Amino acid sequence: MSDVAILRVDRPGHAPATIELAKGDITTIEVDAIVNAANSALAGGGGVDGAIHRAAGPELMVELGARYRGCPTGSAVITASGRLAGHGVRHVIHAGGPVWRGGGSDEERLLRSAYLTSLRLAGEAGARSVAFPAISCGIYGYPLDQGARVALDAVRDGLETAPSVERAVFVLFSGDTFAAFADALAILAKRTSQERPGTRLEDSR
Ligand code: ADP
Repeated sequence: MSDVAILRVDRPGHAPATIELAKGDITTIEVDAIVNAANSALAGGGGVDGAIHRAAGPELMVELGARYRGCPTGSAVITASGRLAGHGVRHVIHAGGPVWRGGGSDEERLLRSAYLTSLRLAGEAGARSVAFPAISCGIYGYPLDQGARVALDAVRDGLETAPSVERAVFVLFSGDTFAAFADALAILAKRTSQERPGTRLEDSR
């Protein structure tokens, strides 16, 4: 897995943070916390959810069933990481992204909230590095360009209130998804550098 774009964000009063884009499989990355694109029943499923549960083993589903009664859309819950602990992952954060219904059903607010809640839980758990997939951008049908913009804006904003988190990595499975996030990151970098002169985009395509 190779990082191809890194945005360095200054945070007044805190250590700077980076937002990184990588192409690959989120179950192989070494970070403190991995975010899962779950469903509101926390019932497991296909896509990245299936991949994370397969890699982590049955322990995750047991803990989800014991501690939580589902997860409202726009929210998130946290568990241990099962076998993912073998490469240093300590937490899995299960986020409920919205199904895309055309854009008039509060999708943007709910997607933003899923990212912000995930980042808050990661911060409360003391995580320094967090990996995200493109929540809602697979089976749930969120348009890639919009999903990328909402994701990056939310994580940039959420890093302000989760000072322990110094590294947010988007692990993107397909070339299309990576390209959409790279374009959105370039736009975010331009906007952020006007507000924060210390902002730098590195290793861009
Ligand atoms: P949702 O139901 O929220 O749309 P999906 O799992 O269908 O969730 O898709 C979310 C994103 O995760 C998609 O961009 C999909 O390509 C991607 N994805 C699927 N498997 C993996 C994986 N192992 N690592 C990272 N991303 C993945």
